[in-house]
Amino acid sequence: MAKVIFNHQACKGCGLCVSVCPKHIIALSHEELNEKGYAPAECTDEAACIVCGFCATICPDMAIEIIEE
Ligand code: SF4
Ligand code: SF4
Repeated sequence: MAKVIFNHQACKGCGLCVSVCPKHIIALSHEELNEKGYAPAECTDEAACIVCGFCATICPDMAIEIIEE
């Protein structure tokens, strides 16, 4: 089990993390904009995360932290 923590204020909604997640469990928010006006990425199903780290590695703004529990 992992916790995928997104720093919503650091996110610029580029979608790179969405494109690399092999489990397709990252999406840009449809309900929220951050202070910069971007729709931030969020994890839609933490239980399905395989802790590959691809999302955190590709994020240009280091907005994703993965904690293995
Ligand atoms: S660690 Fe891997 S499986 Fe988990 S959210 Fe990131 S890209 Fe997806
Ligand atoms: S890669 Fe980083 S900046 Fe881009 S949408 Fe994902 S969390 Fe946001």
